[in-house]
Amino acid sequence: MKTVIIGGIAGGLSAASQIKREDPDARVIVLEKSDDVSYAACGMPYNLFYKDKPVEDLYALNLDEIRTGRGIDYRLNQEVIAIDPVNKTVTVSDTHQARQYHETYDFLVYATGTTPRRLDLPGFDAADVFYFKTLADTRLVKNTIYDQAPTSALLIGSGYTNLELVDVLYNMKITPVILERAATILPSFAEEIRSKVLEKLEEKGIRLHTGVDIIEKNADVVKTATGEFKAGMVVVSIGIQPNTGLFSAAGGELGVAGAVKVDRYLRTSLPDTFAAGDCAEHYVRQLGKNGFMPLGPTANKQGRLIGSNIVNNKAMKMFHGIDQTAVFKFFDLTVATTGLSERQIEESGYRYAKTFVDTPTRGAFPGGGTMRIVLLCEKGTGLLLGGQMIGQDVVAKRLDVLATALYKQMTVFELAELDLSYSPLYAPVWDPLLIAANNAVKKV
Ligand SMILES: Cc1cc2nc3c(=O)[nH]c(=O)nc-3n(C[C@H](O)[C@H](O)[C@H](O)COP(=O)(O)OP(=O)(O)OC[C@H]3O[C@@H](n4cnc5c(N)ncnc54)[C@H](O)[C@@H]3O)c2cc1C
Repeated sequence: MKTVIIGGIAGGLSAASQIKREDPDARVIVLEKSDDVSYAACGMPYNLFYKDKPVEDLYALNLDEIRTGRGIDYRLNQEVIAIDPVNKTVTVSDTHQARQYHETYDFLVYATGTTPRRLDLPGFDAADVFYFKTLADTRLVKNTIYDQAPTSALLIGSGYTNLELVDVLYNMKITPVILERAATILPSFAEEIRSKVLEKLEEKGIRLHTGVDIIEKNADVVKTATGEFKAGMVVVSIGIQPNTGLFSAAGGELGVAGAVKVDRYLRTSLPDTFAAGDCAEHYVRQLGKNGFMPLGPTANKQGRLIGSNIVNNKAMKMFHGIDQTAVFKFFDLTVATTGLSERQIEESGYRYAKTFVDTPTRGAFPGGGTMRIVLLCEKGTGLLLGGQMIGQDVVAKRLDVLATALYKQMTVFELAELDLSYSPLYAPVWDPLLIAANNAVKKV
């Protein structure tokens, strides 16, 4: 059995590794167009802090571990430029040696990720405009920071990756200014969470301009409809689009957000072809249908499942789906979400109650801080629909308790009964999650 995998990062390498785990004799070829083996993109913003820590430290494994250790034929600088689903062949451009060749397959895994949306305006093709998506981008940004020592940066777009960069750059004494086209930031978060992020921006004296229409960039000046901004470097993060050109050119069907349409087994519409990770749709359990929320753990899980489904092709397992759980750091705050957003709840037709509480994170013990918990649950039944948290200290792990409760379709009444651990070092006697649940019980 021979599997060809297009894209060798989270989704691709996970699929390859799982095939070899379950069938060591299987032939697995991973074709990766970049110069980098699988890496943790999530660590890229934080690598910038460390001048002497090479970005290659973010590699998940080195080539030898992948090739010799796992028995995977992993090839760098190999771009797949065509898929022939009838003859089950891909055309590969070896960008290192300027040659092309064909590779046949029994199974194909499409794990090509996404591309950042470009700001297609005059001046934005300059060398000091960056898209912080790949390890190669990180090298460029890092070189600029350490070679040219910019004292200011314009961040265009206010999604979580740019907010992480704002935090990092500020702490490196590079003054960040955020330009956002929309009327506000973090649209999938509740107002009660967003306001805390905005407070933090204000506390740090970081300028955020919303409703900004950018016109052009000229040298180090970005011109907008409302004024001009000068900056030593510009990072654009205005959204991503799934890399599907190759797939649709072969006749493959696309779905939500233009991602590759997949069924519950992660099969695509092309024969014996699966898709994983950021380029594919993601089944949202609570909605009972596919959505699009490209994140690292999902890519890894989908890749692993595909590997298993290829080996066990007659007894495939379904992808369990996601609950849209995510977290990011913003200065001393952790911002986290799980389950449905208010917009999704409204679109689904639920009658829901929204409650929030502010609580301390520890008992009578130095340290800790406060956190805010927003709970969204169905009126009447109390079924948990979603939750968001922001605060200092251990927010992420509390969020994971809530994610577990959502997975088991618990009600807020059941959440209030959880036997959560207590010691003043870790929590108040009533854990913040229990305080939030008890508060919500009154409003349901
Ligand atoms: C700055 C940043 C921070 C992030 N932080 C987090 C986080 O904190 N938590 C989290 O869950 N997620 C985070 N993510 C998202 C996470 O990194 C992605 O969800 C994950 O990398 C997706 O893996 P993937 O394999 O689907 O796609 P990718 O990692 O994009 O890999 C796809 C690969 O396919 C290759 N490829 C594309 N086309 C071809 C072709 N034709 N031929 C050969 N190769 C091809 C590309 O070169 C690429 O290397 C972050 C992302 C970024 C950019």
